Amino acid sequence: MGSLIAYLYWITRSPSPPHETETNAVDAEPVRCCRCSYSSQPLSLPSPLLPSPPLPPLLSPSRSLRRPPRAPPILPPSREIHSQLIASGFGSNVFAMTAVVNMYAKCRRIEEARRMFDRMPERDLVAWNAIVAGYAQNGMAERALEMVIRLQKDGRKPDSVTLVSALPACANVGSLKIGKTVHAFAMKAGFDSLVNVSTALVDMYSKCKRIDLAEEVFENMPVKSLVSWNAMILGYAQNDRVEDALRLFNKMQRETVMPDSFTMVSVIPVLADISVLKQAKWIHGFAIRLCLDKNIFVMTALVDLYAKCGSVRVARRLFDAMEERHVTTWNAMIDGYGTNGFGKSAIDLFEQMKRSSVKPNDITFLSVLSACGHSGLVQEGKKYFAGMKEDYGLEPNMDHYGCMVDLLGRAGRLHEAWDFIQKMPISPGISVYGAMLGACKIHKNVKLGEEAAQRLFELEPDEGGYHVLLANIYAAASMWEDVARVRTMMEKKGLQKTPGYSSIDLKNEMHTFYSGSTDHPQSQKIYTRLARLIDEIKAVGYVPDGDSLHDVEEDVKEQLLGTHSEKLAIAFGLINTTPGTSLQIRKNLRVCNDCHEATKFISQVTGREIIVRDMQRFHHFKNGQCSCGDYW
Ligand SMILES: [Zn+2]
Ligand SMILES: [Zn+2]
Repeated sequence: MGSLIAYLYWITRSPSPPHETETNAVDAEPVRCCRCSYSSQPLSLPSPLLPSPPLPPLLSPSRSLRRPPRAPPILPPSREIHSQLIASGFGSNVFAMTAVVNMYAKCRRIEEARRMFDRMPERDLVAWNAIVAGYAQNGMAERALEMVIRLQKDGRKPDSVTLVSALPACANVGSLKIGKTVHAFAMKAGFDSLVNVSTALVDMYSKCKRIDLAEEVFENMPVKSLVSWNAMILGYAQNDRVEDALRLFNKMQRETVMPDSFTMVSVIPVLADISVLKQAKWIHGFAIRLCLDKNIFVMTALVDLYAKCGSVRVARRLFDAMEERHVTTWNAMIDGYGTNGFGKSAIDLFEQMKRSSVKPNDITFLSVLSACGHSGLVQEGKKYFAGMKEDYGLEPNMDHYGCMVDLLGRAGRLHEAWDFIQKMPISPGISVYGAMLGACKIHKNVKLGEEAAQRLFELEPDEGGYHVLLANIYAAASMWEDVARVRTMMEKKGLQKTPGYSSIDLKNEMHTFYSGSTDHPQSQKIYTRLARLIDEIKAVGYVPDGDSLHDVEEDVKEQLLGTHSEKLAIAFGLINTTPGTSLQIRKNLRVCNDCHEATKFISQVTGREIIVRDMQRFHHFKNGQCSCGDYW
């Protein structure tokens, strides 16, 4: 029987319960607590079963790094074990039955776990905790919380293990209210000073988007574990508090808390969001010092980071040096090639991936399709889109359809794109019509542009950007009355265009410029340099592109072409760096035609390499040319 119990323990401790692959650092703690409840069973785990750190959710734009799909659950011969238990007379043993509940829950058979739980003649708190954790780990947060209430009605008091299971459940249903109740209970019971409970609170508040409350709990923790630091850093990262995430990361080191792979995979995507090469190199060096340069998740995050900093070659070197690669590693590299305009390399790598033992997933296809889109590889894109379902049994989702419309539309095949939309088996969403509208703007198609815009106005009535796009389409066709009509419509609805801005990093400080902004301390110098620059590039053939004038609202007429934010950022960069230094600029919207043209000339006259990362992709400007080949 001992071996059976050992087996049950083994199964319930196995590393890939369905939802634990989704958990972050915080959820690692309940495991330790559970372990305490089993302390009477001195068992050591076979080492390959020790959980490897899961990739925590990463910061938004990193599509290629989205979490891998869930691994199929381990299905043990559970019925057999269960019948054996009954046959051996252990059917009423609380400990054995709790282990069975645990086992079923870990194998994603939560309903069976519940049946076992209901059949137990008596239940102790460990059994209750098993079912609460079971529901929580199977994504059934509401039922987990329901069980916490029932447990109390049963006359029992939740302990810290219950709370640590219940808190992520609150976070998953986004129930701040219940989360706060649990917090209040924890305080009353004195559990809030326990490091695992407060860490779970930090995590819960972060996921409920109350980073202020998470901060408060974190700051007041009498003792912080590495897991607590990680939870807070990840919380900042997930709530787009980039600077705070980095500040805390630095503070952590000042307090000599040694970061681990969890910390690194939370921080690296934050840096990827800022995409400053110098910082990428620094954190890479740091990873090496921490001996994490063989860690597949850390290395994958670094591949993604270098690609996002525009250093595709370095990313590829790291990729090639990796002994083992996860599907997210391949995705990061393929996406890196795609967004940097190396469509052919993206395809080559994808072909190599198909020959490897790693199976492409839906994110891989998204990266491949968008790479084809960025490089105008229409035939290849169509082939891969078809192959997705035919060869890999993957059902395309809205993002894939959006990519296809973008691919066809950008290439000027507007009618084919429109037909494609009409034939979609799912109801087309914003990404699909958005791609269509964008393509109509590029190719100046008023009729289809109007159709797409109409759908978008219905789907997302509060988004001003689509109105601006439609107005631009009318403007390009000199349909001024329609331009005025759209503008009036925007005013009536109180809609505004997202203001464009560009940022550039100088000596670890981020400088942000809005179109026409004059509030920078060096403003005067910047405008003088810019005026000279425009003269210089005009002398070698630059002609301002009047079309882009309509990107600007009537009421901000002074913010004309010449003072678009990226031009200000470039001028600032030129003034403050030594000749030959490459400039890295981030733009929140798509780069306009005029700025794109002007930047090409600027790279020529100044001999500088200028890398602009816009909303959709990278542009590497060098010697008067852009890596996108003017296809973006
Ligand atoms: Zn511009
Ligand atoms: Zn470009």
